[in-house]
Amino acid sequence: MKKPRGVLIAGNWKMNLLKRETESFFSELSSKLSNQLPALKPEFASQTLQAALFPATFSLEIAKTCAAKLPLPISIGAQNVHWAKSGAFTGEISGPMLLELGLKLSLVGHSERRQYFGETDETALKRTQSLLEQEIRVILCVGETRAEREGGKTKAVLTQQLNAVLGVSGSAVSAYLDGRLIIAYEPVWAIGTGLTASPEQAEEAHQLIRKLIWDGFGMQAAGKTMLLYGGSVTPENIDSLLACPNVDGALVGGASLKPEGFAALLLASHRAIH
Ligand code: PEP
Repeated sequence: MKKPRGVLIAGNWKMNLLKRETESFFSELSSKLSNQLPALKPEFASQTLQAALFPATFSLEIAKTCAAKLPLPISIGAQNVHWAKSGAFTGEISGPMLLELGLKLSLVGHSERRQYFGETDETALKRTQSLLEQEIRVILCVGETRAEREGGKTKAVLTQQLNAVLGVSGSAVSAYLDGRLIIAYEPVWAIGTGLTASPEQAEEAHQLIRKLIWDGFGMQAAGKTMLLYGGSVTPENIDSLLACPNVDGALVGGASLKPEGFAALLLASHRAIH
């Protein structure tokens, strides 16, 4: 099946994997993929298949070093970056710090940041805008809670979260709807719970997001913006999710922590684009 924007598989390691474990992950991933390199390399070369990993801040540097030794390009990104370039923000990291490591990718607004660390639509906007301006690509996470879905509010919640960051036509962030800003639909009730959204539920939400982008910012923006699904994605269920026309990839937590899991996700994606 043709995927017009290609496929991106992104692994969010959350607060897991020590440095030594990070090194083992990459060496095992390399051996798991070695037989598949002839098939995978052309996909990576044409960027029809892309991969990214988001280690904890402390492991960013070692992950970057290990990823550079892989035979396939895997981007490394941060899980959360402050909008200010420096200053009195104890415990935070900045865009320039990420760039100093040669890294140009970050998650923004993950539901765990929203749930446990006070992330709001307003701070998600500040982060997204600042990072994009620093030439750091962003995966912006949005999604409804179980109560919101059961209350029939999914559409309203997604609309609110997206509008808060994309703003009105011509806003600073919307200029990056050319592939540099990626949206991850992550229903909160599906994250780390084993409850995956059905392909129909994922496609319905992705269609809604694509329509919002089209209506607000035009066909080009809607056509170029990758929409990832996240929430208990595994090598077993990824095929049916990638079969959805508006699902351009996955943001994966638990299943990305094991090299065999991440390798299996990449191989499933390779199948999906053939
Ligand atoms: C996530 O951390 O973004 C996520 C989707 O986690 P999991 O795949 O474990 O549900």
